[in-house]
Amino acid sequence: MNPNLSPIHSLLGTALGDSLGLPSEGMSRSRIAKRWKGPLEQRFLFGHGMISDDTEHTILISQALLLCGNDPAVFQRRLAGKLRWWFAGLPAGIGLATAKAIIKLWIGFPPGRNGVFSAGNGPVMRAPILGVHFSNDSGRRAAFVRASTLLTHTDPKAVEAAMMAADCAAFATNGELSRDVILDRMKEITVSPEWKQPVERIEASLAAGTSVKQFAEEMGFSKGVSGYAVHTMIMVLFIWLRHRGDFCLIVSEAVACGGDTDSVAAIAGGIAGAEAESLMPEWLARLSDRPYTLDYITRLGSALAESREGSLVSLPSVANWLIIPRNIVFFLAVLSHGFRRIFPPY
Ligand SMILES: [Mg+2]
Repeated sequence: MNPNLSPIHSLLGTALGDSLGLPSEGMSRSRIAKRWKGPLEQRFLFGHGMISDDTEHTILISQALLLCGNDPAVFQRRLAGKLRWWFAGLPAGIGLATAKAIIKLWIGFPPGRNGVFSAGNGPVMRAPILGVHFSNDSGRRAAFVRASTLLTHTDPKAVEAAMMAADCAAFATNGELSRDVILDRMKEITVSPEWKQPVERIEASLAAGTSVKQFAEEMGFSKGVSGYAVHTMIMVLFIWLRHRGDFCLIVSEAVACGGDTDSVAAIAGGIAGAEAESLMPEWLARLSDRPYTLDYITRLGSALAESREGSLVSLPSVANWLIIPRNIVFFLAVLSHGFRRIFPPY
């Protein structure tokens, strides 16, 4: 496929997975299946989708990439500044470790010394676009993934999970098709002992043709996939390799798993999107957010594609003043989803 499409489709894939997974975040697989029949569709606010922190952070990463001149230290400082102002806009969805790390930035810790010891999936959800951007440069890719991760999370497992997401996105961008090559690389990245058994299980289950549902049950995720980076990335890797090439099925399976649905689907969507010729038009048409519109995300993705080729590209303009009113609408919608969950089906 046209390599210039990868950044655009990865960003949009993240936004689609995020927006489609958001209404079922925290619900179990069985409750999701009882509540919504039929194929997956945008259903956050009157049949439309909105994005959460997963896409917002991916956008901030993209903006920081355009401003850093390929220097990971400059990138980290730019991203730190962006995260601080993002936090000041009172986002409704934020992980605990990310919140603590940003508060530390506000009280004066230098970027890179402010991270907290956690392996939540915050750094993983913003990693696929780094893999796409540096798909041809594994050294820079690793340096930027570390810079991004350590800005919030310092547990080595968080770095490893983010590196896996970035490398999968790079493989998708480069059109690497061999499962063995990909799994060998995953084994190389996953140094912490917690990965050993799950990665071996992925390999065996893929060979046996196990379904996503069955694999999730075998891993002990029958109620849902947690926001622990190891759990999230194990499921993302399995779903992507199991259904490679079918963007719609990958996102649908990720959401159906339950648990941290928006992040699991956002990461899977960011990876699968990087190699998808086309995304689901009916999902895109109902992605209705401000100021991060479909048009803005597309412009940002094409600016990244241009800068990958070495041209100096300016940051696409965006109506930042809309962020606070938008966040109020988003917060009210999240509240109404919470209220709806008091009632059956359970
Ligand atoms: Mg989220």
